[in-house]
Amino acid sequence: MTTTAEIEEQQDDETGSLADWYIKTVLAAELADYTPVRGSIAIRPYGYAIWENIQAYVDRELKATGHKNAYFPLFIPMSFLQKEAQHVEGFAPELAVVTHGGGQKLAEELVVRPTSETIIYDSYRKWIKSYRDLPMLINCWNNVVRWEMRTRPFLRGMEFLWQEGHTAHATSAEGDEEARLILDIYVRFIEGQLAIPVVAGKKSERDKFAGADITYTMESLMRDGKALQMGTSHNLGQNFGKAFDVKFLDADGEQKYPWSTSWAVSTRLIGALALVHGDEKGLILPPRIAPIQAVIVPIWRKDDERAVVEEFLGRVETELRAAGIRLEVDRRDTVTPGFKFNDWELRGVPVRLEIGPRDVAANQVTAARRDNREKSAIPLADVSAGVHELLDTVQTALWERALAFRAANTHEVSSMNELRAGLESDPGFYWVNWCGSDKCEDAFVELKASIRAIPLEEKEAHSTGPCVICGSDAKQRVLVSKSY
Ligand SMILES: [Zn+2]
Repeated sequence: MTTTAEIEEQQDDETGSLADWYIKTVLAAELADYTPVRGSIAIRPYGYAIWENIQAYVDRELKATGHKNAYFPLFIPMSFLQKEAQHVEGFAPELAVVTHGGGQKLAEELVVRPTSETIIYDSYRKWIKSYRDLPMLINCWNNVVRWEMRTRPFLRGMEFLWQEGHTAHATSAEGDEEARLILDIYVRFIEGQLAIPVVAGKKSERDKFAGADITYTMESLMRDGKALQMGTSHNLGQNFGKAFDVKFLDADGEQKYPWSTSWAVSTRLIGALALVHGDEKGLILPPRIAPIQAVIVPIWRKDDERAVVEEFLGRVETELRAAGIRLEVDRRDTVTPGFKFNDWELRGVPVRLEIGPRDVAANQVTAARRDNREKSAIPLADVSAGVHELLDTVQTALWERALAFRAANTHEVSSMNELRAGLESDPGFYWVNWCGSDKCEDAFVELKASIRAIPLEEKEAHSTGPCVICGSDAKQRVLVSKSY
Protein backbone atom coordinates (compact mmCIF):
# COMPACT_ATOMS: atom_id res chain seq x y z
CA MET A 1 0.00 0.00 0.00
CA THR A 2 1.41 3.36 -1.01
CA THR A 3 0.73 6.14 1.42
CA THR A 4 -0.12 9.66 0.41
CA ALA A 5 3.15 10.87 1.88
CA GLU A 6 4.98 8.63 -0.56
CA ILE A 7 3.05 9.95 -3.53
CA GLU A 8 3.81 13.45 -2.43
CA GLU A 9 7.48 12.60 -2.45
CA GLN A 10 7.25 11.21 -5.96
CA GLN A 11 5.47 14.34 -7.06
CA ASP A 12 8.10 16.54 -5.49
CA ASP A 13 10.53 15.07 -8.03
CA GLU A 14 8.58 16.73 -10.80
CA THR A 15 9.73 20.31 -10.75
CA GLY A 16 7.19 22.35 -12.64
CA SER A 17 7.35 25.97 -13.61
CA LEU A 18 5.03 26.90 -10.74
CA ALA A 19 7.34 25.15 -8.28
CA ASP A 20 10.27 27.24 -9.52
CA TRP A 21 8.20 30.42 -9.52
CA TYR A 22 7.11 29.64 -5.97
CA ILE A 23 10.59 29.36 -4.48
CA LYS A 24 11.88 32.43 -6.31
CA THR A 25 8.88 34.49 -5.23
CA VAL A 26 8.96 33.41 -1.59
CA LEU A 27 12.62 34.44 -1.40
CA ALA A 28 12.40 37.61 -3.49
CA ALA A 29 9.23 38.91 -1.79
CA GLU A 30 11.03 38.33 1.52
CA LEU A 31 8.42 36.03 2.98
CA ALA A 32 11.09 33.59 4.14
CA ASP A 33 14.71 32.60 3.72
CA TYR A 34 16.65 29.38 3.96
CA THR A 35 18.84 28.63 6.98
CA PRO A 36 21.74 26.14 7.32
CA VAL A 37 19.33 23.55 8.72
CA ARG A 38 17.55 21.69 5.94
CA GLY A 39 13.81 22.28 5.90
CA SER A 40 14.01 24.95 8.58
CA ILE A 41 13.21 28.41 7.28
CA ALA A 42 13.53 31.87 8.74
CA ILE A 43 10.17 33.56 8.37
CA ARG A 44 10.99 37.16 7.51
CA PRO A 45 8.98 40.11 8.87
CA TYR A 46 6.75 40.39 5.77
CA GLY A 47 5.88 36.68 5.89
CA TYR A 48 5.44 36.78 9.64
CA ALA A 49 3.07 39.74 9.35
CA ILE A 50 0.78 37.57 7.18
CA TRP A 51 0.95 34.90 9.88
CA GLU A 52 0.05 37.47 12.54
CA ASN A 53 -3.03 38.43 10.52
CA ILE A 54 -3.98 34.75 10.19
CA GLN A 55 -3.47 34.30 13.94
CA ALA A 56 -5.52 37.38 14.82
CA TYR A 57 -8.56 36.19 12.88
CA VAL A 58 -8.42 32.53 13.89
CA ASP A 59 -7.69 33.37 17.52
CA ARG A 60 -10.68 35.71 17.67
CA GLU A 61 -13.00 33.08 16.16
CA LEU A 62 -11.76 30.36 18.51
CA LYS A 63 -12.22 32.56 21.57
CA ALA A 64 -15.68 33.59 20.38
CA THR A 65 -16.63 29.89 20.36
CA GLY A 66 -15.41 29.28 23.91
CA HIS A 67 -11.85 28.06 23.32
CA LYS A 68 -9.00 29.17 25.58
CA ASN A 69 -5.28 29.29 24.79
CA ALA A 70 -2.73 27.34 26.80
CA TYR A 71 0.80 26.04 26.35
CA PHE A 72 2.28 22.54 26.62
CA PRO A 73 5.94 21.47 26.51
CA LEU A 74 8.06 20.98 23.40
CA PHE A 75 9.47 17.68 24.77
CA ILE A 76 7.36 14.57 25.08
CA PRO A 77 8.52 11.32 26.75
CA MET A 78 8.91 8.64 24.06
CA SER A 79 6.68 6.28 26.07
CA PHE A 80 3.74 8.69 25.68
CA LEU A 81 3.76 8.35 21.91
CA GLN A 82 3.75 4.59 22.22
CA LYS A 83 0.49 4.57 24.17
CA GLU A 84 -1.69 5.08 21.11
CA ALA A 85 -0.69 2.38 18.62
CA GLN A 86 -1.79 4.07 15.38
CA HIS A 87 -0.45 7.41 16.52
CA VAL A 88 3.09 6.14 17.09
CA GLU A 89 3.03 4.11 13.88
CA GLY A 90 1.97 7.18 11.90
CA PHE A 91 4.51 9.53 13.41
CA ALA A 92 7.52 7.25 14.05
CA PRO A 93 9.23 7.93 10.70
CA GLU A 94 9.06 11.71 11.26
CA LEU A 95 10.23 11.98 14.85
CA ALA A 96 13.16 14.07 16.06
CA VAL A 97 14.39 12.40 19.24
CA VAL A 98 16.53 13.91 22.00
CA THR A 99 18.88 11.31 23.47
CA HIS A 100 21.26 13.54 25.44
CA GLY A 101 20.84 16.57 27.69
CA GLY A 102 23.43 18.47 29.70
CA GLY A 103 26.09 16.08 28.47
CA GLN A 104 24.29 13.05 29.91
CA LYS A 105 22.48 10.26 28.15
CA LEU A 106 18.80 10.56 29.07
CA ALA A 107 17.11 7.75 30.99
CA GLU A 108 14.12 8.15 28.69
CA GLU A 109 14.40 9.62 25.22
CA LEU A 110 12.37 12.75 24.56
CA VAL A 111 10.50 13.40 21.35
CA VAL A 112 10.33 16.93 19.96
CA ARG A 113 6.57 17.31 19.52
CA PRO A 114 5.28 16.45 16.06
CA THR A 115 1.80 17.22 17.50
CA SER A 116 0.73 17.41 21.13
CA GLU A 117 -2.13 14.95 21.72
CA THR A 118 -0.08 12.66 23.96
CA ILE A 119 1.41 15.27 26.30
CA ILE A 120 -1.96 17.02 26.53
CA TYR A 121 -3.91 13.85 27.35
CA ASP A 122 -1.51 13.13 30.18
CA SER A 123 -2.58 16.47 31.69
CA TYR A 124 -6.25 15.93 30.82
CA ARG A 125 -6.14 12.78 32.97
CA LYS A 126 -5.53 15.08 35.94
CA TRP A 127 -7.85 17.88 34.87
CA ILE A 128 -10.93 15.96 33.74
CA LYS A 129 -12.67 14.17 36.61
CA SER A 130 -16.33 14.99 36.21
CA TYR A 131 -18.81 15.83 33.47
CA ARG A 132 -18.67 19.35 34.97
CA ASP A 133 -15.08 19.63 33.66
CA LEU A 134 -16.35 19.13 30.12
CA PRO A 135 -16.19 20.31 27.46
CA MET A 136 -12.48 21.03 27.73
CA LEU A 137 -11.76 23.51 24.92
CA ILE A 138 -8.05 24.30 24.62
CA ASN A 139 -6.01 25.73 21.78
CA CYS A 140 -2.22 26.15 21.52
CA TRP A 141 -0.18 28.42 19.26
CA ASN A 142 3.20 26.75 18.89
CA ASN A 143 5.76 25.11 16.61
CA VAL A 144 6.12 21.41 15.79
CA VAL A 145 8.90 19.33 14.25
CA ARG A 146 8.48 16.57 11.67
CA TRP A 147 11.53 14.99 10.02
CA GLU A 148 10.32 15.45 6.45
CA MET A 149 12.53 14.16 3.66
CA ARG A 150 11.37 16.61 0.99
CA THR A 151 10.73 20.10 2.15
CA ARG A 152 9.53 23.34 0.60
CA PRO A 153 9.17 26.69 2.42
CA PHE A 154 5.78 26.96 4.17
CA LEU A 155 4.28 23.99 2.26
CA ARG A 156 6.22 21.24 4.02
CA GLY A 157 8.84 21.97 6.64
CA MET A 158 10.83 20.21 9.32
CA GLU A 159 9.63 22.85 11.72
CA PHE A 160 6.51 24.92 11.24
CA LEU A 161 4.17 27.18 13.16
CA TRP A 162 0.52 26.35 13.67
CA GLN A 163 -2.32 26.31 16.11
CA GLU A 164 -3.42 22.98 17.49
CA GLY A 165 -6.77 22.65 19.23
CA HIS A 166 -7.48 19.80 21.63
CA THR A 167 -10.95 19.33 23.04
CA ALA A 168 -12.71 16.72 25.16
CA HIS A 169 -16.46 16.14 25.36
CA ALA A 170 -19.00 14.12 27.30
CA THR A 171 -20.65 12.51 24.28
CA SER A 172 -19.71 11.20 20.87
CA ALA A 173 -22.17 13.57 19.18
CA GLU A 174 -20.66 16.61 20.91
CA GLY A 175 -17.18 15.56 19.81
CA ASP A 176 -18.23 15.29 16.18
CA GLU A 177 -20.13 18.58 16.39
CA GLU A 178 -16.95 20.25 17.63
CA ALA A 179 -14.82 18.82 14.81
CA ARG A 180 -17.42 20.07 12.30
CA LEU A 181 -17.72 23.49 13.98
CA ILE A 182 -13.97 24.03 13.65
CA LEU A 183 -14.05 22.89 10.03
CA ASP A 184 -16.72 25.54 9.40
CA ILE A 185 -14.62 28.24 11.10
CA TYR A 186 -11.64 27.28 8.94
CA VAL A 187 -13.71 27.26 5.74
CA ARG A 188 -15.18 30.69 6.51
CA PHE A 189 -11.70 32.02 7.22
CA ILE A 190 -9.99 30.58 4.15
CA GLU A 191 -12.77 31.53 1.76
CA GLY A 192 -13.72 34.86 3.34
CA GLN A 193 -10.29 36.24 4.23
CA LEU A 194 -7.80 34.39 2.02
CA ALA A 195 -10.19 34.34 -0.99
CA ILE A 196 -9.35 30.69 -1.61
CA PRO A 197 -12.24 28.31 -2.37
CA VAL A 198 -12.10 24.97 -0.53
CA VAL A 199 -13.73 21.58 -0.90
CA ALA A 200 -14.52 20.36 2.60
CA GLY A 201 -14.79 16.64 3.10
CA LYS A 202 -13.49 13.56 4.88
CA LYS A 203 -10.20 11.77 4.30
CA SER A 204 -10.28 8.12 3.30
CA GLU A 205 -9.42 5.55 6.00
CA ARG A 206 -5.82 5.36 4.84
CA ASP A 207 -5.23 9.10 4.84
CA LYS A 208 -6.89 9.99 8.10
CA PHE A 209 -4.80 11.31 11.02
CA ALA A 210 -2.92 8.66 12.98
CA GLY A 211 -5.27 7.98 15.90
CA ALA A 212 -8.43 9.59 14.50
CA ASP A 213 -11.85 8.06 13.81
CA ILE A 214 -12.65 10.69 11.20
CA THR A 215 -10.40 13.32 9.62
CA TYR A 216 -12.20 16.27 8.10
CA THR A 217 -10.15 18.10 5.51
CA MET A 218 -10.17 21.16 3.29
CA GLU A 219 -8.64 20.92 -0.16
CA SER A 220 -7.87 23.82 -2.47
CA LEU A 221 -6.72 23.90 -6.06
CA MET A 222 -3.39 25.58 -6.80
CA ARG A 223 -2.64 27.31 -10.13
CA ASP A 224 -0.82 24.26 -11.52
CA GLY A 225 -3.85 22.03 -10.98
CA LYS A 226 -2.53 20.31 -7.85
CA ALA A 227 -4.43 20.16 -4.59
CA LEU A 228 -3.13 21.52 -1.30
CA GLN A 229 -4.54 20.32 2.01
CA MET A 230 -5.36 23.58 3.80
CA GLY A 231 -6.05 22.23 7.27
CA THR A 232 -7.69 19.36 9.11
CA SER A 233 -10.07 18.73 11.98
CA HIS A 234 -10.11 15.30 13.58
CA ASN A 235 -12.80 13.44 15.45
CA LEU A 236 -10.56 11.29 17.70
CA GLY A 237 -13.38 9.28 19.24
CA GLN A 238 -12.29 7.86 22.60
CA ASN A 239 -8.89 6.70 21.31
CA PHE A 240 -6.74 9.12 23.29
CA GLY A 241 -9.03 9.07 26.32
CA LYS A 242 -8.56 5.30 26.52
CA ALA A 243 -4.83 5.34 25.74
CA PHE A 244 -4.19 7.86 28.53
CA ASP A 245 -6.84 6.54 30.90
CA VAL A 246 -8.72 9.82 31.05
CA LYS A 247 -12.03 9.08 32.82
CA PHE A 248 -14.84 11.27 34.03
CA LEU A 249 -17.80 10.65 36.27
CA ASP A 250 -20.86 11.34 34.13
CA ALA A 251 -24.16 12.78 35.38
CA ASP A 252 -25.60 9.24 35.34
CA GLY A 253 -22.98 8.10 37.88
CA GLU A 254 -20.99 6.07 35.31
CA GLN A 255 -17.24 6.38 34.72
CA LYS A 256 -16.66 7.18 31.03
CA TYR A 257 -13.87 8.02 28.61
CA PRO A 258 -14.29 11.45 26.99
CA TRP A 259 -14.68 11.90 23.24
CA SER A 260 -12.08 14.20 21.80
CA THR A 261 -11.01 16.24 18.80
CA SER A 262 -7.88 17.93 17.50
CA TRP A 263 -7.50 20.39 14.64
CA ALA A 264 -4.95 22.67 13.04
CA VAL A 265 -4.06 25.21 10.43
CA SER A 266 -0.46 26.22 9.88
CA THR A 267 1.95 28.56 8.13
CA ARG A 268 1.25 26.40 5.05
CA LEU A 269 -1.61 28.85 4.39
CA ILE A 270 1.01 31.48 3.50
CA GLY A 271 2.27 29.17 0.76
CA ALA A 272 -1.30 28.64 -0.44
CA LEU A 273 -1.81 32.40 -0.83
CA ALA A 274 1.19 32.51 -3.17
CA LEU A 275 0.21 29.40 -5.15
CA VAL A 276 -3.42 30.45 -5.65
CA HIS A 277 -3.25 34.19 -6.29
CA GLY A 278 0.23 35.00 -7.65
CA ASP A 279 1.20 35.89 -11.23
CA GLU A 280 4.37 36.42 -13.28
CA LYS A 281 5.03 39.68 -11.37
CA GLY A 282 4.95 38.03 -7.95
CA LEU A 283 2.48 37.69 -5.09
CA ILE A 284 -1.05 39.06 -5.08
CA LEU A 285 -2.35 39.27 -1.52
CA PRO A 286 -6.06 39.52 -0.74
CA PRO A 287 -6.63 42.86 1.02
CA ARG A 288 -8.18 41.31 4.14
CA ILE A 289 -4.99 39.38 4.97
CA ALA A 290 -2.36 41.65 3.37
CA PRO A 291 0.07 43.20 5.90
CA ILE A 292 0.20 46.28 3.67
CA GLN A 293 -3.12 47.01 1.98
CA ALA A 294 -2.01 50.12 0.11
CA VAL A 295 1.35 51.66 -0.66
CA ILE A 296 1.84 55.30 -1.58
CA VAL A 297 4.56 56.07 -4.11
CA PRO A 298 5.37 59.77 -4.48
CA ILE A 299 6.56 60.88 -7.92
CA TRP A 300 8.55 64.02 -8.66
CA ARG A 301 11.41 65.21 -10.81
CA LYS A 302 12.38 68.62 -9.46
CA ASP A 303 12.75 69.82 -5.88
CA ASP A 304 9.86 72.27 -6.05
CA GLU A 305 7.63 69.39 -7.23
CA ARG A 306 8.83 67.32 -4.30
CA ALA A 307 7.67 69.88 -1.74
CA VAL A 308 4.21 70.10 -3.30
CA VAL A 309 3.87 66.32 -3.57
CA GLU A 310 5.07 65.79 0.01
CA GLU A 311 2.57 68.23 1.42
CA PHE A 312 -0.33 66.60 -0.44
CA LEU A 313 0.90 63.11 0.42
CA GLY A 314 0.92 64.05 4.09
CA ARG A 315 -2.77 64.84 3.94
CA VAL A 316 -3.58 61.58 2.15
CA GLU A 317 -1.50 59.57 4.61
CA THR A 318 -3.20 61.11 7.65
CA GLU A 319 -6.61 60.43 6.16
CA LEU A 320 -5.90 56.80 5.24
CA ARG A 321 -4.24 55.95 8.57
CA ALA A 322 -7.22 57.42 10.41
CA ALA A 323 -9.47 55.22 8.27
CA GLY A 324 -7.61 52.12 9.51
CA ILE A 325 -6.02 51.19 6.20
CA ARG A 326 -2.73 49.26 6.62
CA LEU A 327 -0.51 51.67 4.78
CA GLU A 328 3.11 52.01 3.69
CA VAL A 329 4.61 55.19 2.26
CA ASP A 330 7.62 54.49 0.08
CA ARG A 331 9.79 57.59 0.58
CA ARG A 332 13.03 55.94 -0.57
CA ASP A 333 14.93 58.43 -2.70
CA THR A 334 17.64 56.03 -3.80
CA VAL A 335 15.38 54.14 -6.24
CA THR A 336 13.07 55.24 -9.07
CA PRO A 337 9.26 55.10 -8.93
CA GLY A 338 9.41 52.37 -11.59
CA PHE A 339 11.61 50.25 -9.34
CA LYS A 340 9.20 50.81 -6.47
CA PHE A 341 6.21 49.77 -8.60
CA ASN A 342 7.91 46.45 -9.39
CA ASP A 343 9.00 45.97 -5.82
CA TRP A 344 5.49 46.37 -4.37
CA GLU A 345 3.97 44.29 -7.14
CA LEU A 346 6.39 41.49 -6.26
CA ARG A 347 5.18 41.70 -2.66
CA GLY A 348 1.57 41.60 -3.77
CA VAL A 349 0.33 44.82 -2.15
CA PRO A 350 -3.29 45.01 -3.39
CA VAL A 351 -3.44 48.74 -4.16
CA ARG A 352 -0.74 51.25 -5.15
CA LEU A 353 -1.42 54.94 -4.86
CA GLU A 354 0.66 57.26 -7.02
CA ILE A 355 0.93 60.93 -6.18
CA GLY A 356 2.68 63.19 -8.71
CA PRO A 357 2.46 66.89 -9.52
CA ARG A 358 -0.43 66.30 -11.91
CA ASP A 359 -2.37 64.42 -9.22
CA VAL A 360 -1.80 67.28 -6.79
CA ALA A 361 -3.01 69.78 -9.40
CA ALA A 362 -6.16 67.68 -9.95
CA ASN A 363 -6.63 67.13 -6.20
CA GLN A 364 -6.59 63.32 -6.59
CA VAL A 365 -4.50 60.21 -6.22
CA THR A 366 -3.97 57.67 -8.99
CA ALA A 367 -4.81 54.17 -7.76
CA ALA A 368 -3.49 51.01 -9.43
CA ARG A 369 -4.92 47.58 -8.62
CA ARG A 370 -2.39 44.79 -8.24
CA ASP A 371 -4.70 42.06 -9.52
CA ASN A 372 -5.48 43.50 -12.97
CA ARG A 373 -3.27 46.66 -13.00
CA GLU A 374 -6.27 48.87 -13.77
CA LYS A 375 -5.76 52.49 -12.86
CA SER A 376 -8.33 54.95 -11.62
CA ALA A 377 -8.36 58.40 -10.03
CA ILE A 378 -9.69 58.91 -6.52
CA PRO A 379 -10.48 62.51 -5.47
CA LEU A 380 -8.78 63.63 -2.25
CA ALA A 381 -12.17 64.36 -0.70
CA ASP A 382 -13.17 60.68 -1.07
CA VAL A 383 -9.79 59.12 -0.56
CA SER A 384 -10.50 56.86 2.44
CA ALA A 385 -13.88 55.66 1.17
CA GLY A 386 -12.43 55.27 -2.32
CA VAL A 387 -9.49 53.14 -1.14
CA HIS A 388 -11.73 51.02 1.11
CA GLU A 389 -14.03 50.40 -1.84
CA LEU A 390 -11.13 49.51 -4.09
CA LEU A 391 -9.80 47.04 -1.50
CA ASP A 392 -13.22 45.38 -1.34
CA THR A 393 -13.30 45.22 -5.13
CA VAL A 394 -9.88 43.53 -5.25
CA GLN A 395 -10.89 41.05 -2.51
CA THR A 396 -14.01 40.08 -4.47
CA ALA A 397 -12.15 39.93 -7.78
CA LEU A 398 -9.53 37.56 -6.36
CA TRP A 399 -12.22 35.34 -4.90
CA GLU A 400 -14.15 35.25 -8.16
CA ARG A 401 -11.03 34.56 -10.18
CA ALA A 402 -10.02 31.66 -7.92
CA LEU A 403 -13.57 30.29 -8.04
CA ALA A 404 -13.67 30.53 -11.84
CA PHE A 405 -10.27 28.85 -12.08
CA ARG A 406 -11.45 25.98 -9.93
CA ALA A 407 -14.67 25.63 -11.94
CA ALA A 408 -12.69 25.55 -15.18
CA ASN A 409 -10.35 22.90 -13.75
CA THR A 410 -12.88 20.62 -12.11
CA HIS A 411 -13.91 17.64 -14.19
CA GLU A 412 -16.16 14.61 -14.01
CA VAL A 413 -14.87 11.42 -15.63
CA SER A 414 -16.32 7.93 -15.70
CA SER A 415 -13.48 5.69 -16.86
CA MET A 416 -9.94 5.02 -15.73
CA ASN A 417 -8.59 5.92 -19.17
CA GLU A 418 -10.30 9.28 -19.07
CA LEU A 419 -8.96 9.85 -15.57
CA ARG A 420 -5.40 8.92 -16.58
CA ALA A 421 -5.47 11.09 -19.68
CA GLY A 422 -7.07 13.95 -17.78
CA LEU A 423 -4.57 13.93 -14.92
CA GLU A 424 -1.73 14.00 -17.46
CA SER A 425 -2.93 16.65 -19.85
CA ASP A 426 -5.23 18.71 -17.69
CA PRO A 427 -4.37 18.43 -14.00
CA GLY A 428 -7.14 19.62 -11.71
CA PHE A 429 -9.93 18.29 -9.53
CA TYR A 430 -11.59 15.10 -10.78
CA TRP A 431 -14.88 13.89 -9.37
CA VAL A 432 -15.16 10.14 -9.78
CA ASN A 433 -17.20 7.25 -8.42
CA TRP A 434 -15.32 4.90 -6.12
CA CYS A 435 -16.28 1.47 -4.83
CA GLY A 436 -14.46 2.00 -1.52
CA SER A 437 -11.86 -0.77 -2.02
CA ASP A 438 -8.18 -0.44 -1.16
CA LYS A 439 -7.26 -1.89 -4.52
CA CYS A 440 -9.02 0.86 -6.42
CA GLU A 441 -7.56 3.48 -4.06
CA ASP A 442 -4.12 2.04 -4.98
CA ALA A 443 -4.99 2.57 -8.62
CA PHE A 444 -5.39 6.32 -8.01
CA VAL A 445 -1.96 6.28 -6.41
CA GLU A 446 -0.53 4.54 -9.48
CA LEU A 447 -1.81 7.51 -11.46
CA LYS A 448 0.25 9.70 -9.07
CA ALA A 449 -2.95 11.07 -7.59
CA SER A 450 -5.01 10.38 -4.50
CA ILE A 451 -8.44 10.75 -2.97
CA ARG A 452 -8.33 14.26 -1.57
CA ALA A 453 -11.80 14.35 -0.04
CA ILE A 454 -15.03 12.43 0.35
CA PRO A 455 -17.98 14.85 0.41
CA LEU A 456 -19.75 15.35 3.74
CA GLU A 457 -23.23 15.83 2.33
CA GLU A 458 -25.08 12.66 1.43
CA LYS A 459 -26.36 14.33 -1.72
CA GLU A 460 -22.86 15.21 -2.98
CA ALA A 461 -21.33 11.92 -1.93
CA HIS A 462 -24.03 9.90 -3.68
CA SER A 463 -22.63 8.04 -6.67
CA THR A 464 -24.59 7.73 -9.86
CA GLY A 465 -22.52 5.13 -11.69
CA PRO A 466 -19.97 2.34 -11.44
CA CYS A 467 -16.52 2.66 -9.81
CA VAL A 468 -14.22 4.56 -12.18
CA ILE A 469 -11.50 1.95 -11.69
CA CYS A 470 -13.09 -1.51 -11.43
CA GLY A 471 -16.57 -0.89 -12.79
CA SER A 472 -18.34 -2.50 -9.83
CA ASP A 473 -21.01 -0.73 -7.79
CA ALA A 474 -19.64 2.54 -6.45
CA LYS A 475 -20.11 3.49 -2.84
CA GLN A 476 -19.57 7.21 -3.25
CA ARG A 477 -18.22 10.09 -5.29
CA VAL A 478 -14.76 11.26 -4.32
CA LEU A 479 -12.45 14.08 -5.29
CA VAL A 480 -9.22 12.84 -6.88
CA SER A 481 -6.23 14.91 -7.92
CA LYS A 482 -2.49 15.31 -7.78
CA SER A 483 -1.33 17.16 -4.73
CA TYR A 484 1.45 19.06 -3.01
ZN1 LIG B 1 -13.44 -0.11 -7.57
